[in-house]
Amino acid sequence: MISSHALSTENTGPTITVGEILVEIVSLTPGEGFSQPLPLSGPYPSGAPAIFIDQCARLDGDAGMIGSVGNDDFGKLNITRLHEDGVDTSGISIDATLPTGSAFVRYRPDGNRDFVFNITASAAANLNWNENVSALVSRAGHIHIMGTVLSQDSAWEIIKRAVELIKSRGGSVSLDPNIRKELVMNDAIAGRFNALLRQTDLLLPSGEELLLAAREQDQQRALQALFALGIKEVVLKQGEQGATCFTRNGEVIHSAAFQVEEVDPTGAGDCFGGAYVACRRKGMPIVDALEWANAAGARNVTFRGPMEGASTTSQLQTFMQTTKKHH
Ligand code: ATP
Ligand code: MG
Repeated sequence: MISSHALSTENTGPTITVGEILVEIVSLTPGEGFSQPLPLSGPYPSGAPAIFIDQCARLDGDAGMIGSVGNDDFGKLNITRLHEDGVDTSGISIDATLPTGSAFVRYRPDGNRDFVFNITASAAANLNWNENVSALVSRAGHIHIMGTVLSQDSAWEIIKRAVELIKSRGGSVSLDPNIRKELVMNDAIAGRFNALLRQTDLLLPSGEELLLAAREQDQQRALQALFALGIKEVVLKQGEQGATCFTRNGEVIHSAAFQVEEVDPTGAGDCFGGAYVACRRKGMPIVDALEWANAAGARNVTFRGPMEGASTTSQLQTFMQTTKKHH
């Protein structure tokens, strides 16, 4: 089956990711913004790449992270969590002067979110290629990239080198476009995005990101354009509608979502991706990997805090046995 070879298997080396490690502090009351004192909950370990790799490791995927934190408790909190969950944290450096990145999040009643970020002036945006990074990259068999990281110059320098090295030793690449409204898509970022698409084996868009990534108006044309670039699998995340995998061989495999009570939707897509990549790299067929990934995304939204609902194998087994699916 050609489709089982979209990603390199784990014996090629660990799955790694590069990017921001943050703490998230979430408002306990819905409403607009942060312009008065509020009851808050946190700090929670966060950052889309960190959530992805934590979920990957919790499912016993061989996993490593490249990032940077400050020499402070927010940094310790993150490194401790990732390490305890089985992530190789040797590629995370501790910045001597900059603080750990942070994001304050408040949900509006309509489900939209307001943020106060400290990322660009934090350790999260100050990555450097060093010996530890080099050692991790030279062992890696797969790299996962979050589109949001492409606007960060220091991360992009590492990603460029890492993708080339990993591809040259038979490894594979996955990309979650994460094209957010807040993200400015200028020419430089679009150029990086397009360069990366040509190296991508697995694309993990959600909603309209499939069309945006391909710059096409309809789904069929978008898929054709992406497969023409060399992408082998496109997995479309569809929230409460579950997820659908399209392969270059023309297979279309859908898996329904699980029925859950949503507490905090942040991190669902990252957990979905971490689970899907871990399962596929262990050789699991697409149909089963979709089921596990749907379960990882759904279980995550039942916890407050973006990484709090990342699941272990046994937690997901129980969840899948005891949770009904949408039709
Ligand atoms: P994020 O906002 O974290 O980036 P995303 O937009 O990338 O998320 P979603 O489609 O929202 O991705 O969520 C990823 C997956 O998680 C879905 O495909 C689904 O399997 C699961 N999921 C998310 N929200 C729910 C929900 N409310 N009920 C059930 N499953 C959900
Ligand atoms: Mg997403």
